[in-house]
Amino acid sequence: MSRPDEALGFPLPLTLGHEGAGTVAALGEGVTGLALGDPVAVYGPWGCGTCPMCAQGKENYCTRAAELGIRPPGLGAPGAIAEYMVVDDPRHLVPLGAL
Ligand SMILES: [Zn+2]
Repeated sequence: MSRPDEALGFPLPLTLGHEGAGTVAALGEGVTGLALGDPVAVYGPWGCGTCPMCAQGKENYCTRAAELGIRPPGLGAPGAIAEYMVVDDPRHLVPLGAL
């Protein structure tokens, strides 16, 4: 019998939460277009950002995600059911405005 993390293909324990929303609590170096406190949703299907599908805004069809080991938050990478979540790129945040 295989271990659960071997069967899933990613390490456990894992923070779940693939449909995240919250407010920006910190910004990485060079990030523009976002400000502390901005309400955002987290776009879940992360891709490489550079392949033809990602370039069309279709990261859920990224042709390189598996090869690069990119896993969606909450579905193989730490997710949103936590006080804070690290988002790797501002393109994965959807501004919510006054919603
Ligand atoms: Zn891609």
